[in-house]
Amino acid sequence: MSRSVLVTGGNRGIGLAIARAFADNGDQVAITYRSGEPPQALTEAGVLAVRCDITDAEQVEQAYKEIEDKHGPVEVLVANAGITKDQLLMRMSEEDFTSVLDTNLTGTFRVVKRANRGMLRAKKGRVVLISSVVGLLGSAGQANYAASKAGLVGFARSLARELGSRNITFNVVAPGFVDTDMTQVLTEEQRKGIVAQVPLGRYARPEEIAAAVRFLASDDASYITGAVIPVDGGLGMGH
Ligand code: NDP
Repeated sequence: MSRSVLVTGGNRGIGLAIARAFADNGDQVAITYRSGEPPQALTEAGVLAVRCDITDAEQVEQAYKEIEDKHGPVEVLVANAGITKDQLLMRMSEEDFTSVLDTNLTGTFRVVKRANRGMLRAKKGRVVLISSVVGLLGSAGQANYAASKAGLVGFARSLARELGSRNITFNVVAPGFVDTDMTQVLTEEQRKGIVAQVPLGRYARPEEIAAAVRFLASDDASYITGAVIPVDGGLGMGH
């Protein structure tokens, strides 16, 4: 059955792969993008692209109105949009910290809260949050990012308890290192160091993260909520 699916930050990287996976499934997919233009192939495939900065509550409201107008209430939400501003603590400004929290954690709060309105009414819904292995393992130079990604776990698990009786599931996917623009900033040396710690010995492809997300939104995952699913090649084992 075709569902109304929203993927935030779906114009590139992991979000784009997730949007494609749902579109291939026959779902009605909407993505948000903040800057740049969404890939033409995506819009040609019938995916609705809506400009929206998730740090702005008004833009979130407008995006939902447009999506609801065209696809009906969002039934599956994938909160994927996120940023890094890496810095050692001594050099990390308050803005470096709060802007990452405002996008990754508060931005997720904004989109989840708005989606919930329709899900409560429908008495069903699927929410998948994209965290990171770093949220559980920690990472030197990423205290802001790791805090925001760890925060998503407490957020999802609280909502899983709060809204389980309404048949809405909340799960977290925690990717390891994935080949996207976000990891392009790493030097070859850093990349080699990371890969050496990954039992599967390589980065993930965005499609490998998308497969887990699609599963969590499927009927096969109907009894899974409050889970943190690692898709990290074994990097975070035990966390
Ligand atoms: P990219 O940097 O390739 O893409 C990030 C996406 O988020 C873009 O679509 C970007 O939009 C969007 N975005 C950022 N800030 C905002 C905002 N304020 N409002 C709306 N959209 C915004 O990252 P990835 O695809 O690699 O990452 C996707 C998610 O996966 C992130 O949450 C990231 O933390 C997480 N992740 C990534 C890993 C990796 O190794 N790549 C590992 C673990 C987790 P725009 O194009 O306009 O900038």
